[in-house]
Amino acid sequence: MKKIAVLLILAMTVVFAGCGSNESADSDKKEEKTEDTSKEDAKDDSAEDVLADGVLTVGTNAEFPPFEYVGDDGEPDGFDIALIKAIGEKLGVDVEVENMEFESLVASIGNKIDVAIAGMTVTDERKNAVDFSDSYYQAVQYVIVPLDSDIKEASDLNGKNIGVQLGTTGDFMVEDFEGATAAQYNKAVDAVNDLINGRVDAVIVDKNPALVFEGKFSDKIKALDFSFEPEDYAIAIPKGDEKLLNAVNDALAELKSDGTFDELVNEYIEN
Ligand code: GLN
Repeated sequence: MKKIAVLLILAMTVVFAGCGSNESADSDKKEEKTEDTSKEDAKDDSAEDVLADGVLTVGTNAEFPPFEYVGDDGEPDGFDIALIKAIGEKLGVDVEVENMEFESLVASIGNKIDVAIAGMTVTDERKNAVDFSDSYYQAVQYVIVPLDSDIKEASDLNGKNIGVQLGTTGDFMVEDFEGATAAQYNKAVDAVNDLINGRVDAVIVDKNPALVFEGKFSDKIKALDFSFEPEDYAIAIPKGDEKLLNAVNDALAELKSDGTFDELVNEYIEN
């Protein structure tokens, strides 16, 4: 009996010592391990943390209808929010949504938030900082102008003052138009208000929000399609977190095959 007890105590000591040394190995990872191994470990740790945590913290910018907006109850709602909640359900985690500025989303991934969903276009520059899930929607930039505008085609944007949302692909496009200047806003709707007030000549924003704004102010503005390059929306995930990436992609694929994805498209986008 005594022997067994001693053995048990010994075994437990080994287990606890093991935990302790793991922890210190983790914190000393950078100095102790080669870069490649530490990357492997970081991957596993972050994936395990996020999913084992039971809570997926999701960043968005609820100023981009129909993908995200503040609902009547004051909480973020929209296609992206419903989609990430459905993904959370498949993963067995609760989803907590943090509403923040679009510009700060990418830098917040892996610290303030686990992932971001915000009608975010996959770009090479963003890929330097984060990984992207499989794409879930194809979009394109539209141009909103006053009803009586002389802007009829893309080249008419040369030399114009163009309202955009700061840090978006619409913002990045302005430099393609010779002599054009970007008037940057934190919310696309503020750019649209300034368009209506005559402070900017046009607004460049993604197609679906453009159509929502056009519908809201149809007596003043119209949304034009100049057939710009298509863009892909995807969920941004911490760089190198393959476990989380695969889990999100698997959940997305399941939602597509079981019909949930199409239901959400019908409910939020094509209604
Ligand atoms: N799709 C655009 C981008 O990723 C705009 C996204 C947004 O404003 N929420 O830059």
